[in-house]
Amino acid sequence: MLYINGKWKVAQSKERMSVYNPANLEIIGEVAFGGANDVKEAIQAASAAYKSWKKTSADEKSRYLNKISSLLKSMEEELAVTITKEMGKPLKESLGEVKLAIAYIDWYAEEAKRIYGETIPASSPDKRILVLQEPIGITGAITPWNFPAAMVTRKLAPALAAGCPVILKPASTTPLTAIKIFEAIDEAGLPKGVANLVIGSSSEIAQTLLDSKEVRKLTFTGSTEIGKKLMSEASRTVKKVSMELGGHAPFIVFSDADLEKAAEAAVASKFRNAGQTCVCTNRIYVHQEVADEFTNKFVEKVKRLKIGNGMEKDTDIGPLINEDSLAKVIEHVEDAEQKGGLIVCGGKKVENYDKGVFYEPTVIQNANESMKIAAEETFGPVVPIFTFKTEEEAIERANHPDYGLASYCFTSDLNRAFRVMESLEYGIIGINDSMPTTAQAPFGGVKESGVGREGGKYGIKEYLEEKFVSLNIG
Ligand code: NAP
Repeated sequence: MLYINGKWKVAQSKERMSVYNPANLEIIGEVAFGGANDVKEAIQAASAAYKSWKKTSADEKSRYLNKISSLLKSMEEELAVTITKEMGKPLKESLGEVKLAIAYIDWYAEEAKRIYGETIPASSPDKRILVLQEPIGITGAITPWNFPAAMVTRKLAPALAAGCPVILKPASTTPLTAIKIFEAIDEAGLPKGVANLVIGSSSEIAQTLLDSKEVRKLTFTGSTEIGKKLMSEASRTVKKVSMELGGHAPFIVFSDADLEKAAEAAVASKFRNAGQTCVCTNRIYVHQEVADEFTNKFVEKVKRLKIGNGMEKDTDIGPLINEDSLAKVIEHVEDAEQKGGLIVCGGKKVENYDKGVFYEPTVIQNANESMKIAAEETFGPVVPIFTFKTEEEAIERANHPDYGLASYCFTSDLNRAFRVMESLEYGIIGINDSMPTTAQAPFGGVKESGVGREGGKYGIKEYLEEKFVSLNIG
Protein backbone atom coordinates (compact mmCIF):
# COMPACT_ATOMS: atom_id res chain seq x y z
CA MET A 1 0.00 0.00 0.00
CA LEU A 2 0.97 3.63 -0.47
CA TYR A 3 0.50 6.09 2.39
CA ILE A 4 -0.70 9.48 1.20
CA ASN A 5 -2.42 12.24 3.16
CA GLY A 6 -2.73 10.02 6.24
CA LYS A 7 -4.42 7.14 4.38
CA TRP A 8 -3.33 3.74 3.06
CA LYS A 9 -4.07 3.56 -0.66
CA VAL A 10 -3.69 1.43 -3.74
CA ALA A 11 -1.87 3.01 -6.69
CA GLN A 12 -4.08 5.11 -8.97
CA SER A 13 -3.08 2.78 -11.81
CA LYS A 14 -4.06 -0.21 -9.57
CA GLU A 15 -0.65 -1.72 -10.45
CA ARG A 16 1.02 -4.02 -7.92
CA MET A 17 4.39 -5.68 -7.60
CA SER A 18 5.78 -8.69 -5.74
CA VAL A 19 8.55 -8.52 -3.16
CA TYR A 20 11.06 -11.40 -3.07
CA ASN A 21 13.33 -12.90 -0.45
CA PRO A 22 16.77 -12.85 -2.12
CA ALA A 23 17.86 -15.91 -0.09
CA ASN A 24 15.37 -18.28 -1.72
CA LEU A 25 13.41 -16.15 -4.23
CA GLU A 26 10.13 -16.82 -2.41
CA ILE A 27 7.49 -14.11 -2.74
CA ILE A 28 7.13 -12.48 0.68
CA GLY A 29 4.71 -9.71 -0.10
CA GLU A 30 2.74 -7.75 -2.69
CA VAL A 31 2.65 -3.99 -2.69
CA ALA A 32 1.07 -1.18 -4.65
CA PHE A 33 3.25 0.14 -7.48
CA GLY A 34 2.74 3.87 -7.75
CA GLY A 35 3.65 6.44 -10.36
CA ALA A 36 3.46 10.10 -11.31
CA ASN A 37 -0.20 10.62 -10.33
CA ASP A 38 0.34 9.22 -6.85
CA VAL A 39 3.32 11.54 -6.35
CA LYS A 40 1.26 14.51 -7.51
CA GLU A 41 -1.39 13.60 -4.92
CA ALA A 42 1.32 13.30 -2.26
CA ILE A 43 2.79 16.70 -3.19
CA GLN A 44 -0.67 18.26 -2.87
CA ALA A 45 -1.14 16.66 0.55
CA ALA A 46 2.34 17.71 1.71
CA SER A 47 1.73 21.23 0.49
CA ALA A 48 -1.47 21.53 2.54
CA ALA A 49 0.21 19.96 5.58
CA TYR A 50 3.24 22.26 5.34
CA LYS A 51 1.17 25.32 6.29
CA SER A 52 0.72 24.07 9.84
CA TRP A 53 3.68 21.66 10.19
CA LYS A 54 6.20 24.48 9.66
CA LYS A 55 4.56 26.36 12.54
CA THR A 56 4.31 23.35 14.85
CA SER A 57 6.25 23.91 18.05
CA ALA A 58 9.52 22.10 18.65
CA ASP A 59 8.03 20.35 21.68
CA GLU A 60 5.14 19.00 19.66
CA LYS A 61 7.34 17.78 16.79
CA SER A 62 9.54 16.15 19.40
CA ARG A 63 6.54 14.40 20.98
CA TYR A 64 5.48 12.94 17.62
CA LEU A 65 9.02 11.68 16.96
CA ASN A 66 9.24 10.17 20.45
CA LYS A 67 5.92 8.41 19.91
CA ILE A 68 7.12 6.99 16.56
CA SER A 69 10.35 5.87 18.24
CA SER A 70 8.58 4.08 21.09
CA LEU A 71 6.24 2.31 18.64
CA LEU A 72 9.23 1.19 16.57
CA LYS A 73 10.99 -0.01 19.73
CA SER A 74 8.03 -2.29 20.39
CA MET A 75 8.41 -3.64 16.82
CA GLU A 76 12.19 -4.21 16.83
CA GLU A 77 12.10 -7.96 16.26
CA GLU A 78 9.36 -7.72 13.61
CA LEU A 79 11.28 -5.00 11.75
CA ALA A 80 14.52 -6.99 11.87
CA VAL A 81 12.83 -10.09 10.46
CA THR A 82 11.31 -7.99 7.67
CA ILE A 83 14.72 -6.55 6.77
CA THR A 84 16.34 -10.00 6.69
CA LYS A 85 13.53 -11.43 4.61
CA GLU A 86 13.49 -8.67 2.03
CA MET A 87 17.21 -8.02 1.61
CA GLY A 88 19.01 -11.01 3.11
CA LYS A 89 21.36 -9.66 5.80
CA PRO A 90 21.81 -11.85 8.90
CA LEU A 91 19.16 -11.27 11.57
CA LYS A 92 21.74 -10.03 14.13
CA GLU A 93 22.80 -7.31 11.65
CA SER A 94 19.17 -6.42 10.97
CA LEU A 95 18.59 -5.95 14.70
CA GLY A 96 21.61 -3.65 14.80
CA GLU A 97 20.19 -1.68 11.88
CA VAL A 98 16.80 -1.29 13.58
CA LYS A 99 18.50 0.10 16.69
CA LEU A 100 20.46 2.56 14.54
CA ALA A 101 17.29 3.54 12.68
CA ILE A 102 15.55 4.31 15.99
CA ALA A 103 18.61 6.16 17.32
CA TYR A 104 18.25 8.67 14.46
CA ILE A 105 14.63 9.32 15.48
CA ASP A 106 15.62 9.72 19.14
CA TRP A 107 18.41 12.11 18.22
CA TYR A 108 16.21 14.32 16.04
CA ALA A 109 13.37 14.29 18.58
CA GLU A 110 15.85 16.27 20.72
CA GLU A 111 17.50 18.21 17.89
CA ALA A 112 14.08 19.67 16.95
CA LYS A 113 14.44 21.75 20.14
CA ARG A 114 17.89 23.08 19.20
CA ILE A 115 17.15 24.88 15.95
CA TYR A 116 18.68 28.17 17.05
CA GLY A 117 18.70 31.43 15.12
CA GLU A 118 21.26 34.21 15.66
CA THR A 119 21.58 37.95 16.12
CA ILE A 120 24.60 39.62 14.54
CA PRO A 121 26.07 42.96 15.70
CA ALA A 122 25.07 45.57 13.09
CA SER A 123 27.26 48.39 11.72
CA SER A 124 24.75 51.06 12.73
CA PRO A 125 23.13 51.71 16.14
CA ASP A 126 19.71 51.87 14.42
CA LYS A 127 19.89 48.42 12.90
CA ARG A 128 19.37 44.91 14.20
CA ILE A 129 20.38 41.84 12.22
CA LEU A 130 18.46 38.64 12.84
CA VAL A 131 19.09 35.24 11.28
CA LEU A 132 16.11 32.89 11.45
CA GLN A 133 16.31 29.17 10.72
CA GLU A 134 13.33 28.05 8.66
CA PRO A 135 12.34 24.69 7.15
CA ILE A 136 13.33 24.45 3.51
CA GLY A 137 9.97 22.97 2.52
CA ILE A 138 8.56 19.82 0.98
CA THR A 139 11.22 17.14 0.72
CA GLY A 140 11.50 14.21 -1.66
CA ALA A 141 13.53 11.32 -0.20
CA ILE A 142 14.83 8.34 -2.19
CA THR A 143 16.48 5.45 -0.33
CA PRO A 144 18.43 2.27 -1.25
CA TRP A 145 17.81 -1.41 -0.43
CA ASN A 146 20.93 -2.15 1.62
CA PHE A 147 19.69 -0.40 4.81
CA PRO A 148 15.89 -0.43 4.40
CA ALA A 149 15.23 1.06 7.87
CA ALA A 150 18.20 3.26 8.80
CA MET A 151 18.38 5.12 5.48
CA VAL A 152 14.68 5.93 5.79
CA THR A 153 14.78 7.31 9.34
CA ARG A 154 18.09 9.12 8.74
CA LYS A 155 16.15 11.29 6.25
CA LEU A 156 12.64 11.31 7.70
CA ALA A 157 13.57 12.20 11.27
CA PRO A 158 15.66 15.36 10.62
CA ALA A 159 13.24 16.53 7.90
CA LEU A 160 10.24 16.23 10.22
CA ALA A 161 12.18 17.79 13.10
CA ALA A 162 13.05 20.76 10.89
CA GLY A 163 9.38 21.24 9.90
CA CYS A 164 9.51 19.75 6.40
CA PRO A 165 6.83 17.36 5.08
CA VAL A 166 8.32 14.33 3.31
CA ILE A 167 7.47 12.15 0.34
CA LEU A 168 9.51 8.96 0.64
CA LYS A 169 10.30 6.54 -2.16
CA PRO A 170 12.05 3.44 -0.80
CA ALA A 171 13.95 0.98 -3.01
CA SER A 172 11.60 -1.30 -4.94
CA THR A 173 13.36 -4.38 -3.60
CA THR A 174 12.74 -3.39 0.06
CA PRO A 175 9.39 -1.60 0.48
CA LEU A 176 8.10 -3.79 3.34
CA THR A 177 10.35 -2.28 6.04
CA ALA A 178 9.31 1.22 4.92
CA ILE A 179 5.64 0.20 5.15
CA LYS A 180 6.20 -0.97 8.75
CA ILE A 181 7.87 2.34 9.64
CA PHE A 182 4.86 4.15 8.19
CA GLU A 183 2.51 1.95 10.23
CA ALA A 184 4.21 3.43 13.30
CA ILE A 185 3.94 6.93 11.83
CA ASP A 186 0.22 6.35 11.24
CA GLU A 187 -0.34 4.98 14.76
CA ALA A 188 1.57 7.91 16.26
CA GLY A 189 -1.08 10.18 14.73
CA LEU A 190 1.28 12.42 12.75
CA PRO A 191 -0.90 15.06 11.04
CA LYS A 192 -2.06 13.91 7.60
CA GLY A 193 0.18 14.81 4.66
CA VAL A 194 3.30 15.36 6.79
CA ALA A 195 4.82 11.98 5.88
CA ASN A 196 3.88 10.22 2.65
CA LEU A 197 5.07 6.93 1.19
CA VAL A 198 5.07 6.28 -2.54
CA ILE A 199 6.47 2.93 -3.69
CA GLY A 200 6.81 2.36 -7.42
CA SER A 201 8.52 3.38 -10.62
CA SER A 202 11.76 5.10 -9.61
CA SER A 203 12.13 7.16 -12.76
CA GLU A 204 8.49 8.36 -12.75
CA ILE A 205 8.47 9.17 -9.06
CA ALA A 206 11.82 10.96 -9.18
CA GLN A 207 10.85 12.90 -12.29
CA THR A 208 7.59 14.11 -10.75
CA LEU A 209 9.38 15.20 -7.57
CA LEU A 210 12.05 16.96 -9.65
CA ASP A 211 9.54 18.69 -11.93
CA SER A 212 7.59 20.13 -9.00
CA LYS A 213 8.41 23.67 -7.92
CA GLU A 214 6.76 22.96 -4.58
CA VAL A 215 9.28 20.26 -3.71
CA ARG A 216 12.25 22.32 -2.48
CA LYS A 217 14.62 19.58 -1.44
CA LEU A 218 15.71 16.20 -2.75
CA THR A 219 17.63 13.86 -0.50
CA PHE A 220 19.02 10.71 -2.10
CA THR A 221 21.04 7.70 -0.99
CA GLY A 222 22.17 5.33 -3.68
CA SER A 223 24.67 4.91 -6.49
CA THR A 224 26.88 7.73 -7.74
CA GLU A 225 25.55 7.14 -11.26
CA ILE A 226 21.91 7.86 -10.33
CA GLY A 227 22.94 10.60 -7.88
CA LYS A 228 24.65 12.53 -10.67
CA LYS A 229 21.57 12.29 -12.87
CA LEU A 230 19.31 13.54 -10.09
CA MET A 231 21.66 16.43 -9.25
CA SER A 232 21.67 17.57 -12.81
CA GLU A 233 17.86 17.34 -13.08
CA ALA A 234 17.42 19.15 -9.75
CA SER A 235 19.18 22.17 -11.23
CA ARG A 236 16.12 22.90 -13.40
CA THR A 237 14.21 24.14 -10.36
CA VAL A 238 17.35 24.92 -8.31
CA LYS A 239 16.39 22.43 -5.61
CA LYS A 240 18.66 21.90 -2.66
CA VAL A 241 20.09 18.37 -2.78
CA SER A 242 21.76 15.97 -0.36
CA MET A 243 23.54 13.05 -1.96
CA GLU A 244 24.83 10.02 -0.06
CA LEU A 245 26.52 8.04 -2.84
CA GLY A 246 28.98 5.23 -3.47
CA GLY A 247 32.27 4.57 -1.72
CA HIS A 248 35.54 2.68 -2.10
CA ALA A 249 36.94 2.40 1.40
CA PRO A 250 40.66 1.72 1.97
CA PHE A 251 41.73 -0.08 5.15
CA ILE A 252 45.37 0.69 6.03
CA VAL A 253 47.31 -1.53 8.43
CA PHE A 254 50.64 -0.13 9.66
CA SER A 255 53.41 -2.32 11.04
CA ASP A 256 52.82 -0.88 14.54
CA ALA A 257 49.12 -1.89 14.56
CA ASP A 258 47.58 -4.50 16.83
CA LEU A 259 47.30 -7.06 14.03
CA GLU A 260 44.77 -9.26 15.80
CA LYS A 261 42.38 -6.33 16.32
CA ALA A 262 43.03 -5.04 12.82
CA ALA A 263 42.23 -8.43 11.27
CA GLU A 264 39.02 -8.75 13.28
CA ALA A 265 37.94 -5.21 12.39
CA ALA A 266 38.73 -5.78 8.70
CA VAL A 267 36.50 -8.87 8.64
CA ALA A 268 33.62 -6.91 10.18
CA SER A 269 34.08 -3.94 7.88
CA LYS A 270 34.45 -5.99 4.71
CA PHE A 271 31.92 -8.77 5.14
CA ARG A 272 28.95 -7.29 6.98
CA ASN A 273 25.88 -7.20 4.80
CA ALA A 274 27.86 -9.53 2.44
CA GLY A 275 30.03 -6.53 1.51
CA GLN A 276 27.01 -4.55 0.35
CA THR A 277 27.43 -1.27 2.21
CA CYS A 278 28.78 2.04 0.99
CA VAL A 279 31.34 2.07 3.85
CA CYS A 280 32.51 -1.54 3.45
CA THR A 281 36.27 -1.93 3.00
CA ASN A 282 37.01 -2.37 -0.70
CA ARG A 283 40.86 -2.39 -0.49
CA ILE A 284 43.27 -3.46 2.26
CA TYR A 285 46.77 -1.92 2.35
CA VAL A 286 49.21 -3.66 4.69
CA HIS A 287 52.78 -2.68 5.47
CA GLN A 288 55.05 -5.22 3.76
CA GLU A 289 56.80 -6.14 7.04
CA VAL A 290 53.56 -7.46 8.55
CA ALA A 291 51.73 -8.46 5.39
CA ASP A 292 52.08 -12.23 5.87
CA GLU A 293 51.21 -12.17 9.55
CA PHE A 294 48.16 -9.93 9.01
CA THR A 295 46.98 -11.93 5.98
CA ASN A 296 47.22 -15.23 7.86
CA LYS A 297 45.19 -13.89 10.78
CA PHE A 298 42.66 -12.27 8.43
CA VAL A 299 42.19 -15.31 6.18
CA GLU A 300 41.84 -17.63 9.15
CA LYS A 301 38.89 -15.52 10.39
CA VAL A 302 37.36 -15.19 6.93
CA LYS A 303 37.37 -18.97 6.51
CA ARG A 304 35.26 -19.29 9.65
CA LEU A 305 32.44 -17.10 8.27
CA LYS A 306 29.25 -19.05 7.72
CA ILE A 307 27.21 -18.49 4.59
CA GLY A 308 23.47 -19.00 4.72
CA ASN A 309 19.95 -17.68 4.93
CA GLY A 310 20.01 -14.64 7.24
CA MET A 311 17.20 -16.19 9.31
CA GLU A 312 19.47 -19.08 10.35
CA LYS A 313 21.03 -18.43 13.73
CA ASP A 314 24.75 -18.67 12.89
CA THR A 315 24.74 -16.99 9.50
CA ASP A 316 27.46 -14.39 8.96
CA ILE A 317 27.03 -13.88 5.21
CA GLY A 318 23.66 -13.80 3.47
CA PRO A 319 22.85 -13.68 -0.23
CA LEU A 320 23.74 -10.99 -2.73
CA ILE A 321 20.75 -8.87 -3.64
CA ASN A 322 20.44 -10.14 -7.23
CA GLU A 323 22.12 -11.67 -10.30
CA ASP A 324 23.52 -8.29 -11.43
CA SER A 325 25.43 -8.01 -8.16
CA LEU A 326 26.76 -11.53 -8.63
CA ALA A 327 27.89 -10.68 -12.18
CA LYS A 328 29.88 -7.68 -10.89
CA VAL A 329 31.55 -9.74 -8.16
CA ILE A 330 32.51 -12.47 -10.64
CA GLU A 331 33.84 -9.84 -13.08
CA HIS A 332 36.06 -8.29 -10.39
CA VAL A 333 37.43 -11.64 -9.23
CA GLU A 334 38.15 -12.92 -12.75
CA ASP A 335 39.78 -9.64 -13.73
CA ALA A 336 41.98 -9.68 -10.61
CA GLU A 337 43.08 -13.26 -11.31
CA GLN A 338 43.97 -12.39 -14.90
CA LYS A 339 46.10 -9.48 -13.64
CA GLY A 340 48.17 -11.56 -11.23
CA GLY A 341 45.90 -11.79 -8.18
CA LEU A 342 46.14 -14.89 -6.01
CA ILE A 343 42.89 -16.12 -4.50
CA VAL A 344 43.74 -17.30 -0.99
CA CYS A 345 40.21 -18.14 0.02
CA GLY A 346 36.77 -18.17 -1.58
CA GLY A 347 36.53 -17.17 -5.23
CA LYS A 348 33.37 -19.02 -6.20
CA LYS A 349 29.61 -18.76 -6.27
CA VAL A 350 28.04 -21.11 -3.73
CA GLU A 351 26.38 -23.92 -5.68
CA ASN A 352 23.40 -25.99 -4.59
CA TYR A 353 22.27 -23.68 -1.78
CA ASP A 354 18.66 -22.65 -2.16
CA LYS A 355 17.66 -20.41 -5.06
CA GLY A 356 19.31 -17.13 -4.01
CA VAL A 357 22.75 -15.99 -5.16
CA PHE A 358 25.46 -16.57 -2.57
CA TYR A 359 29.19 -15.90 -3.06
CA GLU A 360 32.02 -17.16 -0.91
CA PRO A 361 33.92 -14.59 1.17
CA THR A 362 36.98 -14.04 -0.97
CA VAL A 363 40.49 -12.68 -0.32
CA ILE A 364 42.86 -11.78 -3.17
CA GLN A 365 46.59 -11.42 -2.51
CA ASN A 366 49.19 -9.79 -4.84
CA ALA A 367 46.70 -7.09 -5.73
CA ASN A 368 47.75 -4.21 -7.96
CA GLU A 369 46.22 -0.95 -9.13
CA SER A 370 45.50 -2.15 -12.67
CA MET A 371 42.70 -4.36 -11.33
CA LYS A 372 39.09 -3.20 -11.67
CA ILE A 373 38.52 -3.93 -7.98
CA ALA A 374 41.17 -1.33 -7.11
CA ALA A 375 39.00 1.43 -8.57
CA GLU A 376 35.36 0.31 -8.90
CA GLU A 377 32.92 -0.31 -6.04
CA THR A 378 32.47 -4.12 -5.82
CA PHE A 379 29.50 -4.26 -3.42
CA GLY A 380 30.18 -7.88 -2.58
CA PRO A 381 32.19 -10.16 -0.24
CA VAL A 382 35.55 -9.79 -1.99
CA VAL A 383 38.67 -7.94 -0.87
CA PRO A 384 42.10 -7.42 -2.44
CA ILE A 385 45.25 -7.06 -0.28
CA PHE A 386 47.95 -4.61 -1.41
CA THR A 387 51.28 -4.07 0.33
CA PHE A 388 53.15 -0.79 0.86
CA LYS A 389 56.55 0.40 2.12
CA THR A 390 56.03 3.93 3.46
CA GLU A 391 53.30 5.99 5.13
CA GLU A 392 53.32 8.52 2.27
CA GLU A 393 52.85 5.76 -0.27
CA ALA A 394 49.96 4.24 1.72
CA ILE A 395 48.15 7.59 1.90
CA GLU A 396 48.68 8.36 -1.76
CA ARG A 397 47.36 4.99 -2.85
CA ALA A 398 44.47 5.02 -0.36
CA ASN A 399 43.15 8.33 -1.66
CA HIS A 400 40.81 7.63 -4.56
CA PRO A 401 40.44 10.02 -7.52
CA ASP A 402 36.63 9.78 -7.43
CA TYR A 403 35.37 8.34 -4.14
CA GLY A 404 35.75 9.79 -0.64
CA LEU A 405 33.23 8.26 1.76
CA ALA A 406 34.82 6.07 4.47
CA SER A 407 38.42 5.02 5.19
CA TYR A 408 40.12 3.12 8.00
CA CYS A 409 43.60 3.20 9.52
CA PHE A 410 45.07 0.85 12.12
CA THR A 411 48.14 2.04 14.02
CA SER A 412 49.31 2.39 17.62
CA ASP A 413 51.36 5.52 16.87
CA LEU A 414 49.37 8.63 17.86
CA ASN A 415 51.47 10.99 15.74
CA ARG A 416 50.96 8.81 12.72
CA ALA A 417 47.21 8.60 13.42
CA PHE A 418 47.01 12.40 13.21
CA ARG A 419 49.15 12.63 10.08
CA VAL A 420 47.09 10.00 8.29
CA MET A 421 43.75 11.38 9.49
CA GLU A 422 44.64 14.82 8.12
CA SER A 423 45.86 13.46 4.78
CA LEU A 424 43.06 11.06 3.90
CA GLU A 425 40.53 12.64 1.53
CA TYR A 426 37.41 11.01 3.02
CA GLY A 427 34.33 12.26 4.86
CA ILE A 428 34.56 9.49 7.48
CA ILE A 429 37.77 8.15 9.01
CA GLY A 430 37.96 5.26 11.47
CA ILE A 431 41.21 5.14 13.44
CA ASN A 432 41.47 1.68 14.99
CA ASP A 433 37.70 1.60 14.44
CA SER A 434 35.94 -0.06 11.53
CA MET A 435 32.37 0.72 12.68
CA PRO A 436 32.21 4.51 13.03
CA THR A 437 28.57 5.10 12.03
CA THR A 438 26.46 6.55 14.85
CA ALA A 439 23.40 8.81 15.07
CA GLN A 440 25.20 11.81 16.57
CA ALA A 441 28.03 12.08 14.00
CA PRO A 442 28.04 13.59 10.48
CA PHE A 443 27.86 10.81 7.90
CA GLY A 444 28.72 11.66 4.30
CA GLY A 445 31.34 11.79 1.61
CA VAL A 446 33.58 14.10 -0.38
CA LYS A 447 34.32 14.02 -4.14
CA GLU A 448 31.78 11.84 -6.02
CA SER A 449 30.71 10.11 -2.81
CA GLY A 450 28.26 12.86 -2.13
CA VAL A 451 27.10 16.26 -1.01
CA GLY A 452 25.81 17.06 2.49
CA ARG A 453 25.81 15.19 5.77
CA GLU A 454 23.32 13.03 7.66
CA GLY A 455 23.35 12.55 11.43
CA GLY A 456 23.93 14.72 14.46
CA LYS A 457 23.45 18.47 14.51
CA TYR A 458 24.80 18.56 10.95
CA GLY A 459 22.00 16.44 9.48
CA ILE A 460 19.20 18.83 10.37
CA LYS A 461 20.91 21.77 8.62
CA GLU A 462 20.23 20.01 5.31
CA TYR A 463 16.51 20.74 5.85
CA LEU A 464 16.83 24.33 7.04
CA GLU A 465 17.44 27.65 5.37
CA GLU A 466 18.67 30.88 6.89
CA LYS A 467 16.40 33.88 6.60
CA PHE A 468 18.17 37.20 7.16
CA VAL A 469 16.06 39.98 8.65
CA SER A 470 17.38 43.53 8.85
CA LEU A 471 15.44 45.67 11.31
CA ASN A 472 15.73 49.45 11.29
CA ILE A 473 14.62 50.74 14.67
CA GLY A 474 15.77 54.34 14.15
P1 NAP B 1 20.55 2.77 -6.82
O1 NAP B 1 20.37 1.80 -7.91
O2 NAP B 1 21.16 4.09 -7.15
O3 NAP B 1 19.13 2.92 -6.13
C1 NAP B 1 18.93 3.76 -5.02
C2 NAP B 1 17.53 4.33 -5.08
O4 NAP B 1 17.41 5.10 -6.28
C3 NAP B 1 16.42 3.28 -5.13
O5 NAP B 1 15.30 3.77 -4.44
C4 NAP B 1 16.12 3.19 -6.61
O6 NAP B 1 14.80 2.80 -6.89
C5 NAP B 1 16.30 4.64 -7.02
N1 NAP B 1 16.54 4.80 -8.46
C6 NAP B 1 17.04 3.90 -9.34
N2 NAP B 1 17.07 4.45 -10.58
C7 NAP B 1 16.58 5.70 -10.47
C8 NAP B 1 16.35 6.76 -11.39
N3 NAP B 1 16.66 6.65 -12.69
N4 NAP B 1 15.85 7.92 -10.92
C9 NAP B 1 15.54 8.05 -9.60
N5 NAP B 1 15.72 7.09 -8.68
C10 NAP B 1 16.25 5.92 -9.11
O7 NAP B 1 21.46 2.18 -5.66
P2 NAP B 1 21.27 0.82 -4.88
O8 NAP B 1 21.76 -0.27 -5.75
O9 NAP B 1 19.91 0.72 -4.32
O10 NAP B 1 22.24 1.04 -3.63
C11 NAP B 1 23.58 0.79 -3.70
C12 NAP B 1 24.38 2.09 -3.87
O11 NAP B 1 24.02 2.98 -2.84
C13 NAP B 1 25.86 1.85 -3.71
O12 NAP B 1 26.56 2.60 -4.66
C14 NAP B 1 26.14 2.34 -2.30
O13 NAP B 1 27.48 2.71 -2.09
C15 NAP B 1 25.18 3.47 -2.19
N6 NAP B 1 24.88 3.77 -0.78
C16 NAP B 1 25.38 4.92 -0.25
C17 NAP B 1 25.14 5.22 1.08
C18 NAP B 1 25.69 6.48 1.67
O14 NAP B 1 25.22 6.86 2.74
N7 NAP B 1 26.63 7.15 1.04
C19 NAP B 1 24.39 4.35 1.87
C20 NAP B 1 23.89 3.18 1.30
C21 NAP B 1 24.14 2.91 -0.05
P3 NAP B 1 14.44 1.32 -7.37
O15 NAP B 1 14.83 0.43 -6.27
O16 NAP B 1 12.98 1.41 -7.56
O17 NAP B 1 15.21 1.07 -8.62
